[in-house]
Amino acid sequence: MKIIIIGAGIAGTSTYLHLTKHLPAPPSPSAPHTITIYESHRPRASPSPSPSSTTPHTPRHHHPLPDEPSATAHRRRRPRRRPQRHARVPGRSCPPPCGDRVRAQGFPVRAFHVPRGARGWKAGVACRWPMIGYPGEVCVGELAGGGCGASCGKEVGSKGGAGAVRYRRVTGGGGGGEEGVVGEESADLVVGADGVWSSVRKTLFGDGFAPKYTGLAGIGGFINKPLPEEVVKDKSMVFTFGRNGFFGYGSVGPAETNNMMWWSTYQSATVPNRKILDAAAVKKQLQDRHRNWKDPVIQDIIKTVDFDSINPTWTTPPLPHWGEKGLVLIGDSCHALPPTSGQGASQALEDSLTFSLALAHYLSKCYDSGDGTERDALEAATKVYYEVRQPRVQEIAVAAERMDGNKKDMGFVMEMILYGFIWLVSKYPWIMKMMAGDVNGRLYSWKAEEVVHKTVAKKDTASATAA
Ligand SMILES: Cc1cc2nc3c(=O)[nH]c(=O)nc-3n(C[C@H](O)[C@H](O)[C@H](O)COP(=O)(O)OP(=O)(O)OC[C@H]3O[C@@H](n4cnc5c(N)ncnc54)[C@H](O)[C@@H]3O)c2cc1C
Repeated sequence: MKIIIIGAGIAGTSTYLHLTKHLPAPPSPSAPHTITIYESHRPRASPSPSPSSTTPHTPRHHHPLPDEPSATAHRRRRPRRRPQRHARVPGRSCPPPCGDRVRAQGFPVRAFHVPRGARGWKAGVACRWPMIGYPGEVCVGELAGGGCGASCGKEVGSKGGAGAVRYRRVTGGGGGGEEGVVGEESADLVVGADGVWSSVRKTLFGDGFAPKYTGLAGIGGFINKPLPEEVVKDKSMVFTFGRNGFFGYGSVGPAETNNMMWWSTYQSATVPNRKILDAAAVKKQLQDRHRNWKDPVIQDIIKTVDFDSINPTWTTPPLPHWGEKGLVLIGDSCHALPPTSGQGASQALEDSLTFSLALAHYLSKCYDSGDGTERDALEAATKVYYEVRQPRVQEIAVAAERMDGNKKDMGFVMEMILYGFIWLVSKYPWIMKMMAGDVNGRLYSWKAEEVVHKTVAKKDTASATAA
């Protein structure tokens, strides 16, 4: 099969690695599978940590992939500035050996900590959601030069060589015939791993499922400074809710690296225009927003940081399917989640593993017993992939949307209710379990191998019975 992946983010690079690992080789004399990634943006060098104690790292593109030979024709574009983001990575779906590498350079998070509200009422709001009994998460700075995207990118380079990634913007995509089409190139399978503004999704659905602005925007960055005690002692991320927004901070590296990230989320009725960003005005808004918040760490951060981007957040509405006729969507292209979920990277990894396992299963059947064609295998795998993944991702999206409501502006009464609720579930965690079930269990115990195996076995039995 000839496979083209559009996008060298986490979704694209991990799809490359999982397909390479799991797909069975076609029987002789067929040619081996070929996989090529097209990426519109060349990587920039990773930022080096600033020697100054409070200077933030400039947000960077997070996919330091190997260069291709300079003779290859491609359009050079100035790399986009990417939003500050981190990824919380359980590592369960990372293609090896990326998982171990990512875990080693991240900060193991064992609790989401809400030690106080914006007003500083410590005693009333002291909540930890520990991940007892679960592997927990590892927090890495995607844009601080480490993380899943970078790690998978390196692995693609070492497996596929320089030619595995071609730096070219794909301007057209098509399906519906015998093959997916990318610009003027065609392939048996085109994977749209091209993010929230996916052109492959547009090809599949037209303008009907365009991204939606959530009404929230965020700014943030990284600071090289000693970590607050609450972060180190409890191995936690510290969250503070207030009437006019949300502030979070934590570590994106092992404690001794002093690599702290912070972010501020707030309501904005109109989509902030990133092209005409007035950095001084945005910094003043940040300071005004959090001026009276009592946590000294927050006060320290807002006084000293600088930044040059603002991130309106966009999500994709649920889609009726995630691919057909040789086109498949993976990652943000089919389900850009609210950043509040902290699950975008992990879900992209789970997608790529699930799709690869399902395709491997049906291709093996096709090659071993002559059961159908490669195209049949592809269609069957695409259906299983959607069936298995969509409900899980949808549940995470709904939970995150609910949480997003607590980051929007609210009146005094709502603020008190929110603090009261946080206090209550902190003191009586069973209330949360009663309301939402075992959220951590569902999040961390999901295993693509098991779910795919069960689903394809059921389908195989059904089709054998029908025959
Ligand atoms: C502000 C913010 C905070 C976030 N915080 C978190 C977090 O804490 N934890 C978490 O897990 N996730 C977080 N996310 C989400 C996470 O970053 C994404 O879910 C994840 O990066 C999705 O990866 P992807 O590969 O699907 O898409 P992307 O990372 O967007 O990659 C898509 C790639 O496709 C390329 N591309 C696009 N169009 C074309 C084209 N036509 N031709 C060629 N190439 C193309 C792009 O250049 C890009 O490299 C956050 C997102 C935002 C915006």
